[in-house]
Amino acid sequence: MRRKLVVGNWKMHGNLAENEALLKSLIVQVGGLGGVDIAVCAPFPYLAQLQSLLGRTAIAWGAQNLSHRRGGAFTGEVSGAMLTDFGCRYVIVGHSERRALYGENDALVADKFIAARSVGLTPILCVGETLEERGGGLTEVVVARQLDAVIAHAGIAEFHNAVIAYEPVWAIGTGQTATPEQAQAVHAFIRSRIGGHDSHLAEVLSILYGGSVKAGNAAQLCSLPDVDGGLVGGASLSADEFAGICRGAQSIA
Ligand code: PEP
Repeated sequence: MRRKLVVGNWKMHGNLAENEALLKSLIVQVGGLGGVDIAVCAPFPYLAQLQSLLGRTAIAWGAQNLSHRRGGAFTGEVSGAMLTDFGCRYVIVGHSERRALYGENDALVADKFIAARSVGLTPILCVGETLEERGGGLTEVVVARQLDAVIAHAGIAEFHNAVIAYEPVWAIGTGQTATPEQAQAVHAFIRSRIGGHDSHLAEVLSILYGGSVKAGNAAQLCSLPDVDGGLVGGASLSADEFAGICRGAQSIA
């Protein structure tokens, strides 16, 4: 039985005061919620704040990116080891905004996935197609290419305890959530692709859905057989909305 997991992706939002209010409200609302794992991924400067406020709660935290390098003369980069210094459990890898806006290709994403694993972080590997790719019937081709690049480079064994997030690019921040049929079909495809390498791993691997998840649709999405929770952008900035998503996921657990 796979546990449900809900992860907030704050993107480049927040400040010390807002974060504190958001986290304190979240702790009250979901700090004691059983049956579902919860995490928030914040911008680098706020990881110390997360460590201090969430350290004694059941809510985990993580980052939204990391360098593929271990350390050295790489100005502006942040290594995986630095993230573990601040108690991170998770790191998002290959988010579509990084692929589209910061030139991250499949090879770099694979290197980042390996860098995360090498320091014990749980990578949340994002895959997903654009609207044009879906329109062209290329959803499975694109998702397979993104997955296969990491499998080929890292090896399938590295996916043990990793997380995959299916995030159709056209659903991110648009309010246009994938239908249950669309989400389930791609999640099942991802699971079977992993199963082609390791059938036990495919059974236990967490595959999150991301793309305009809200309190109102979380339970329905999480009830799909191959959806194990959500990666949540915009709605994770509201404690009430994010808590509603966590409760929706928990209701299915
Ligand atoms: C995301 O950025 O990972 C995401 C899913 O965003 P949103 O929930 O706002 O669509």
